[in-house]
Amino acid sequence: MNTPLLSPPAADISHRRHLLRWLIPILLVLLFLLTLIWLPQQAQRMESSERQEQLIADSLWVEQAIRFQLSRDDESMRLIGSEIVNGHLNKEQFRGRLNALLRNNRELYRVTWFDVHGKPVASTDDYPISRDQLSAPSQETEEHSRNIRRPLYSAPAIPPGIAEPTLMDYHIPLFRDQHYVGSLVASYSMSRVLNEMVPWWFAQDNEITLTDIDDKVVARRTAGGPGLSVYTHRRELELPGVTLRLQTNSTKSAPKLLPNLLVGSVIVLSLGLLWSLWALWRDISRRLTAEGALQHEVSFRTAMENSLVTGMRARDLEGRITYVNPAFCKMVGYNAAELVGKIPPMPYWAPEAMDEYQERFTKVLAGRVTPQFETIFQRRDGERFPVLIFESPLVDDNGRHTGWMGSILDVSDRRRVEDLNRKQEERLQAGARLASMGEIASTLAHELNQPLAAISSYTTGALNMMQSGRADPAALQPALEKIKAQAQRAGHVIRSVHQFVKKRTPERHPVLIKTIVDNISPLIELQAQPFFVVIQTVIPASLPAVLGDAVLLEQVLLNLTRNAIQAMASNVPERRILRITAALDSDTASHQSVVVSVIDQGHGIPPDVAAGLFSPFFSTKADGMGMGLNICRTTIEFHGGTLTYADNPTGGTIFRFSLPAHSSATTT
Ligand code: ADP
Repeated sequence: MNTPLLSPPAADISHRRHLLRWLIPILLVLLFLLTLIWLPQQAQRMESSERQEQLIADSLWVEQAIRFQLSRDDESMRLIGSEIVNGHLNKEQFRGRLNALLRNNRELYRVTWFDVHGKPVASTDDYPISRDQLSAPSQETEEHSRNIRRPLYSAPAIPPGIAEPTLMDYHIPLFRDQHYVGSLVASYSMSRVLNEMVPWWFAQDNEITLTDIDDKVVARRTAGGPGLSVYTHRRELELPGVTLRLQTNSTKSAPKLLPNLLVGSVIVLSLGLLWSLWALWRDISRRLTAEGALQHEVSFRTAMENSLVTGMRARDLEGRITYVNPAFCKMVGYNAAELVGKIPPMPYWAPEAMDEYQERFTKVLAGRVTPQFETIFQRRDGERFPVLIFESPLVDDNGRHTGWMGSILDVSDRRRVEDLNRKQEERLQAGARLASMGEIASTLAHELNQPLAAISSYTTGALNMMQSGRADPAALQPALEKIKAQAQRAGHVIRSVHQFVKKRTPERHPVLIKTIVDNISPLIELQAQPFFVVIQTVIPASLPAVLGDAVLLEQVLLNLTRNAIQAMASNVPERRILRITAALDSDTASHQSVVVSVIDQGHGIPPDVAAGLFSPFFSTKADGMGMGLNICRTTIEFHGGTLTYADNPTGGTIFRFSLPAHSSATTT
């Protein structure tokens, strides 16, 4: 199960910190986006208010233009009126003057001169109208203007009897010496007022309407199509006698949102910003995950590195130390800072092994490294310790060889254990030797008894001869020589026992198998005698020596012969033959070995016994120790040979051991 890296409160705090780190940029981005959205709207609003203001200004301009034109017409009319009052203008002249005026001022539909009785005197029309033919509001205004003695405009209306146009009449009462002498009536066609007085560029963009005070439309101009009622303006056009309303309605729609370049780019930019923010966030969270994993990996590696008992050392191609682990530092007693960057000679090199190190280092520089070797290093306090070193090339990710990696094992403990083992083994072997001696002690006593008895009887005989006066040296000599021989025999037996039992460290020398067999033949015979076993030895004189410890090999042979003799204990007498043979076995010319066979005709080895044959303390004998074969095998293997056994074809068992032949066949 995975344990969480952080405890819950710590995880909570880190989570909150993570959120806080993101909060400020997110808020800033949101603010930025709000500004981006607000800006175009503001721009749109500004644009529409600008258009509105423009419309108002234009409407004002149009109103002024109409007023200006009406006042110019007014001036012309008053001039003509004063000329009529002064009698400077007759009917014909009037027509001439007025028609010229009408040609230039097309908003004027007609001008009529009425006399004091309301009869037309002259008109721009071919058929002058009478006052009755004026519209009702016009007739009212005529009367009113006369009463107040000031020119007035009438409310626009369609005169009776015709379908159009809507006319607005300007009544100018004429007075001479305070006496009313008639009037001048200038009729304006309302539609022409708009067509003539409003400039084309303004009409193109706006629907312009003239209404009376009750919002009844009296004229409309829609050159650029109907107005959209988005931008509208209304101005009162106050004229003497009447108030008109000038309404302008722009044909322009409100500024549209999407076609607006600004809005478009804002949307694109915002999307891009959001996307890049998202990508950044994803990238950062991926990086954070990777960083977490890396941190975990690094702490795991550090923990692993620190808990390692094997020393690790990396070197570059020039042999400079690039890395050492804590175990290595502990081993040699120098810290990492003192070792990293060092080139040979290293501080942990023992002066006495300097040549060996240098030789190996030269090989490293040449690109040849010894994959495994044993040497000694020196600790800071000068203590030497054996190390086992494994070296291998250091290859980086790109497959480039960058140096060498070595793992160093301090084998001093192992050495100590090996030493202890060896000593115990020796002690065990000595013990085993003592044990086998114990077994043959009684026979030994019996054997020694014989020479001693012989010495005793020869000595008695000699003494008797001396006492009887027949102490002839010639007669005494054979007896004394026999005494000497018997004493030597006894001494030989005792020496070989002493030699055999003595605890000592193994030493290997070239030795002949024959010498070994001869050395222990008294002991073999001693064992064989109680069982009436006959011993046959076949050892060619040409056999080369083997390199070995004579006493240990004697012990092996003694063990094997003892087992063989015991195996034949219950045989019929003629089948109690023990044969010891030795022969040269040459696999190759360079690998010669001497094979010694101990052949008996005993009860053989059944499979259940065979399974535990070489195990320590395995024995089928009531008083057996079960160490014999185990020690034999260890000893033979220590000499670089093998111990095997096989069934004897003629019944019994053959135990065989081989030992590498010593090349120089000198004997000890
Ligand atoms: P021990 O002789 O004390 O029993 P060994 O290790 O020498 O211990 O022998 C182990 C056992 O192997 C013996 O008890 C015996 O059963 C069997 N063995 C050894 N040598 C022979 C042999 N030559 N013939 C038959 N059995 C043998």
